[in-house]
Amino acid sequence: MATVELSSLHKSFGTFTALENLNLHIEDGEFLVLLGPSGCGKSTTMRLVAGLEEPTSGEILIGGKRVNNVPARDRDLAMVFQNYALYPHMTVGENIGYPLKIAKLPKSERAEKVRQAAAKVEMDHLLARRPGELSGGQRQRVALARAIVRTPQLFLMDEPLSNLDAKLRTVMRAELKHLQKELATTTIYVTHDQVEAMTLADRIVILNDARIQQMGTPAEIYARPANTFVAGFIGSPPMNLISGTIAEGIFTHAAGRVPLAGYADGPATIGIRPEDIRVDEGSECIRGQVYSSELLGDSTLLNVRAGEALIAVKVGPEGGRAMDSAIALGFDAEKIHVFDGASGERLGR
Ligand code: ATP
Repeated sequence: MATVELSSLHKSFGTFTALENLNLHIEDGEFLVLLGPSGCGKSTTMRLVAGLEEPTSGEILIGGKRVNNVPARDRDLAMVFQNYALYPHMTVGENIGYPLKIAKLPKSERAEKVRQAAAKVEMDHLLARRPGELSGGQRQRVALARAIVRTPQLFLMDEPLSNLDAKLRTVMRAELKHLQKELATTTIYVTHDQVEAMTLADRIVILNDARIQQMGTPAEIYARPANTFVAGFIGSPPMNLISGTIAEGIFTHAAGRVPLAGYADGPATIGIRPEDIRVDEGSECIRGQVYSSELLGDSTLLNVRAGEALIAVKVGPEGGRAMDSAIALGFDAEKIHVFDGASGERLGR
C-alpha cells in the first residue's frame, strides 16, 4: 500500500503535448479512476507511473519516494492491461505464479500463494488449464490473480474489462471493486467508460486534451460537473446541454424559454439531466417533436427534437409517445446547471 503523488507532470512526444501540468495526490488504499475520451492522456499517465515512459518534466512519488529514475521492475507495482498478456504455453497456475518466480521465491512457498490468489478470483479449480482453454472472463481473472499474487504497493489497470461482453463486465466490475477493498491496495484504473468509472471509483479524475477537467467523488462530479465537457460525459445518457441567451432573468433558446434568475445577461448553456425533465403540456421550457421513443424496461427514453437540439428525456415505462407528436417539457429551476456560453465553465451553484 502506498500514496502516489504526481506533481507538475508533463509529457511531450516531439512537439505534441500528451499531458500538461498534472497535479494529483492519490491516498493510500484509494481506488482512483482516470476517465476520458480516446487520446486524452490516460494511458500516458499510467505509463509514467509504471515507469514505461519518462516524464518530460515533473515528479512522481510512490509511497513518498521519488521514483522518476527508478526502473519499472523496481517500482513494486502490478499491472493489468486490456490484453491480458497471459503466456499461452503455461498453465493457469504457472501464469499466476510467474511474478513470484521472477522474484526468486522458493518453489515450496509459491504453490500456496498461487492457490490463495487463484481462490480470491475463484479460479483455484482450474490451475492446470492453459489460457486457450478458458473463457474471456476466466482469462481476465487469471490476469487479476497474477497481479494480486505478490501484494504490490500499487495496482495499475488499463481498461482491463473492455474485452469482455456487457454482462460479464458487470459481474467482473463488482468482483474487482470487492477485491480492491478487501486487499486495500492503492489502485489507478484507466477507462473511457463513464459507467465503469462511476461504479468503481472512490474518486474520478476526468481528463481531456491532456488536462484535468475535474476531480472528485462520483457523486460530486454527477451533482456538480465543473464544465460542459464533464457534463456531457457523465451520466447515461449524459446531461442535455442547450445553448441560448440569458436576458433579464429569462433563458431563451431555439425551442423555448426558461425562467433563470440570478445570472448575468449574455450567452449561456444550460444543462439538464434526462431524469430531471418531465412531460408538461403547460410548460414553455422546451417545445418540440418526439424523434424516438425507446422502452428500456424500467423506464422509457424519449428523444425530443427541439430546434437544432435532440433532448433526451427519461420517463416512466408507460410514458412512450408516438413519433413526430408534439411535446412540451418542463423541469424545476433547482435542477438546472448553468455554464458560461463561451468558456463552458460552471456558473453559480
Ligand atoms: P486511449 O483510450 O485511446 O488509449 P488515452 O487517453 O489513453 O487514449 P494516451 O495513450 O495517453 O491516450 O495518448 C495521449 C496522446 O498522446 C494521444 O494523442 C497519442 O496519440 C499521443 N501519444 C501517445 N504515445 C505516443 C508516442 N509514443 N508518440 C507520439 N504520440 C504519442
